[in-house]
Amino acid sequence: MRPSPGGPSRPGALVVRGARVSDGLGGPAAPGELWIVEGRCAPPGLGPVAAVVALPGRVVAPGLIDLHVHLCLDAGDDPLAAFAAAGADDLRRTMWANAARSAAAGITTVRDLGAPTAPIAALRAEIASGAIPGPRVVASGAPITSPGGHVHEMGGAVRGAEAVAGAVRALAAAGMDLIKVMVTGGGSSPRTNPRALQFSAEELRAAVGEAAAAGLRVAAHAHADEGVRLAAEAGAATIEHGSHASAASLAIMAARGAALVPTLAPAAAVLAQPGLDASRRRAIAERFEDRQRAVREAVRLGVRILAGTDAGVALTRHGGLIDELRALVASGLPPAAALAAATREAGAALGIPGLGTLRPGAPADLIVLDGDPLDDLGALARPSGVMVGGRWIRRPGGGHP
Ligand SMILES: [Zn+2]
Repeated sequence: MRPSPGGPSRPGALVVRGARVSDGLGGPAAPGELWIVEGRCAPPGLGPVAAVVALPGRVVAPGLIDLHVHLCLDAGDDPLAAFAAAGADDLRRTMWANAARSAAAGITTVRDLGAPTAPIAALRAEIASGAIPGPRVVASGAPITSPGGHVHEMGGAVRGAEAVAGAVRALAAAGMDLIKVMVTGGGSSPRTNPRALQFSAEELRAAVGEAAAAGLRVAAHAHADEGVRLAAEAGAATIEHGSHASAASLAIMAARGAALVPTLAPAAAVLAQPGLDASRRRAIAERFEDRQRAVREAVRLGVRILAGTDAGVALTRHGGLIDELRALVASGLPPAAALAAATREAGAALGIPGLGTLRPGAPADLIVLDGDPLDDLGALARPSGVMVGGRWIRRPGGGHP
C-alpha cells in the first residue's frame, strides 16, 4: 500500500503516546496509547511501530461530524445568489476552501446535503485520494426537489413518483452516498414556502423505496409538520430542520427510528448579528424558538438528535459545529448527548462502522485538544491537531503537514 501523505513513511503503526484518550464511547478521557495502522485505530501492540507522536498533557478525541453542510455555499448574505452567479472555477474554489475550513476546525467528516452532483463527487474523490487535505465527505449530490422548488438551482428538480425514482437511480449511479429530498419549501429560496409541501406521500415513498433498493438512506428536509410526518412515514432516516414538528409527528419519528437534525446554528448566527432590524429579528427568533421547542419535544419522546449546522447558508460558517452544539445544549440537550450527536451517534447515522469513536477498527479520524470535551465542550473550539483516516490535516501544535 502506498504510504499516505502526512502519515508514517514506512509501514507499521503510528503511536500516539502521553495523551489522555477520549475514545468517544461515553467515558472520560483516560491515559493510554492510541495505535493507528493503515488509517484505522488498532489494538495497542499490533505490529511494528513506524512513528511515535508524544502529546503529553493533551487529549485525543474522535474528530467531529457535521451531518448537514453545503460546501458549495459561501455563508454570505445571499449564498444561493452567489452560487447561481458562480462559474465552475469559482464553485470549485469555494468548495475546496470550505472543506479546508471544516477540517481545520476539527470536523473530520461532513455530510454534504446539497451541491451539484459532479463537482461534489470530484471534491470527495480528490480528498479521498489524498490529493488535497479535507474532511471525509459523505454527499447527496443535487437534492431532489420540485420544479422551481427549494434549491432547484442545484439541478435536482423532478415531478411525479416515476421521475423521483429515476432521479434517485441517477444519483446512485453517480456514486452518491445518500439521497436528499426537499419535502417542503425552504427559507433561503425566496419563492418557496417552508410551510408548503413539495412532494406527495407517493413521491416520498418512491424516493425512499428506490434509495433503499440502491442501499442508500434518505435525508428529508422538512419545515412544515405535514412534511415531517410524511417523510417519517415514508421511512426517511433523518429529518432535517423539523421546525414545526408536532408531538404526533415526532412520535412517528421515534417509532420509525428516524433521527432529527434540528440545525439551530443558522438562526443563532443571524440573531448574533448587530444591527438586525426589529421585524427580521422577531421572525428569526420565532424560528429559533420553534426549533428549540421541537428539540425538547423530540428528547422527551425519545427521538435521536444529531448535530448538523447547515453550514454555508446565510451567515452560517463552515467549521462552526461548536455553535450548533452550544445551541443544542441551550435547548436542553445534556452536553454529553450533544457531543455524541456530533461523534458516535452521527457516525452510526452514516453507517460507517466505528466512525465517531476511537475504538479498534474505527477510521483514525481524531482531534488533539487541551481538555476533555466531556468536561467542557469549549475544548472543541481550538483543536491543535486534526487527523483524517490516519493522515494529519493539521499537525499537533499547529502548522500543516
Ligand atoms: Zn441545508
